[in-house]
Parts: sequence; C-alpha cells; structure tokens
Amino acid sequence: MRPETAEPESLKPETAPPVVETHCHLDLEAYAGDRREVIRRARQAGVVGFVNVGFNLESSVRSVALAREHPDFWAAVGIHPHDAREASPEALARLRDLSAEARVVAIGEIGLDYYRDLSPRPEQREAFRRQLRLARELRKPVIIHDRDAHDEVLKILEEEAAGLTVVLHCFSGDAAMAARCLEMGYFIALGGAVTFGNGQRAREVAAMMPLDRLLLETDSPYLSPDPCRGQRNEPARVALVARKVAEVKGMDVARVARDTTRTAARALGLSGLAARRSG
Ligand SMILES: [Zn+2]
Ligand SMILES: [Zn+2]
Repeated sequence: MRPETAEPESLKPETAPPVVETHCHLDLEAYAGDRREVIRRARQAGVVGFVNVGFNLESSVRSVALAREHPDFWAAVGIHPHDAREASPEALARLRDLSAEARVVAIGEIGLDYYRDLSPRPEQREAFRRQLRLARELRKPVIIHDRDAHDEVLKILEEEAAGLTVVLHCFSGDAAMAARCLEMGYFIALGGAVTFGNGQRAREVAAMMPLDRLLLETDSPYLSPDPCRGQRNEPARVALVARKVAEVKGMDVARVARDTTRTAARALGLSGLAARRSG
C-alpha cells in the first residue's frame, strides 16, 4: 500500500462539475475513523448525490441509516452473490420492509460472481432470481454485480427482469455486450477501470455508450482510479472517472457530469437531486 497522497488537481472544488456517485460502500469499517471527512471531500469535489449500496442484510440496514442521516444519500438494499446463502425467505422479507423507506431507491447489489465463487453457483443463481422477483414485486430498479458471469447474468435478466430498470454496475463486459445491454434498455455504470492502464475494454465501452444510459461510480472502498490505484477509494474520485470518460469521448467534462447526473436521477429516481446543487 502506498501512503495517501494529496488529491489530484481535478478533485479541487473550483474545477469540479456536479456529479452523482451511484455506487459506494461508505458504511464499511474502512471509513470508521473519517467517514464525515470522506463525505465532505466528496461534496467539495462536486458529488451532489451518493447511492450507498448494501451487500448483505447488515450493510443494507447501515445503508438505510446513512440515507436517513444525510439528505444527499440514497440507499440500495440487497444480498451480494458472495453472501447468497443469506438470501432466505426471512431475509427477503426484511429487505421488503427496508424497501418501504422512501430513500431506498433500488434492490442491489445482486447478481453473480463466478470470479471469486465465494458461494456455490446454484445458490448464487437462486438468490439472484429471488431478489429480481422481489424487485418486480416492489417495482424498484436493480443494481447488478456481474463478474465473469456475463452470459448467465443476461440470460437470468431476460427471464426475470421484464419491466425493471436495470443498472449493470462496475461493467466489465466488452463493447458487444454493452450494445446488447443497450438493446435491452439497460443502464451501465463505469468506475475506476476506465482509468487503468489495462482498462482498454472499459474505455471502449465508455466511448460507445450514450450519456443517457451511462452512470458513474467508484465502488469505494474498492477499485480506486489512477493515479490513486491501490489506495482505499473514496467518492470524491468519481470526478476522475468523469474526467476520463470525457477524455475518451472527446467531450467537455461538465457535459459528461451534467448528463450522467440526469441519467442517474432518472434511472434510480433520485428525487430532489437537482434542487441540492451546492453547499
Ligand atoms: Zn459489485
Ligand atoms: Zn459494490
């Protein structure tokens, strides 16, 4: 681990257009010592909205608590494929209760992870399907985690996600898969990978994605973008993602920030976002 260094120029407030952090885990222990400071830095860097995403019941409860505490936070509640075992009928009933909160905007993160395979694959698939059905029942968008499971994720979405707003977070497919997702009406969220030296595939996706279907995220504390790779990530660095996406598309960063902010507000129903631009 490198020591924390000063934030790059692009994160300074005067150069930062308003942007939404659509996927972070600020409830984690990694922020126990300086959560407020991390949130403050993000706001200074232009972050006007945060979606804190649950990955099991406990973190879903903590995400809801953050959304109650901060007017610019929203929550997603769900059980990650790593914790698929947890997705009992009782746990789903608890997610249903949590979803009744106005600031719970999505079910997530849910999906399949065939890279780390921390849960048996049949259990992952069952937990994924059950939570997609819950989202349909509740008419909530879904935030999808897909690692090395592209074909199966798309197949299950085709079978279970009719009529749902679908966001594929930390998108790791290629441009052909992104095109397929566009056809299906899905949204794609890109994060730090677009800045990595070996992130060519993510940059190709960034290049072809229309801004009205593209969201930005950091997945903090994971996947810190260059030049902060390897450090604990934080939402302020979504500005670095915006900057790289703008560069790849040959667009002004202010336009990328503005349009992806609109897209996030529309996809996830972040009501009141536009009214809270500064401060
Ligand atoms: Zn994920
Ligand atoms: Zn995540």
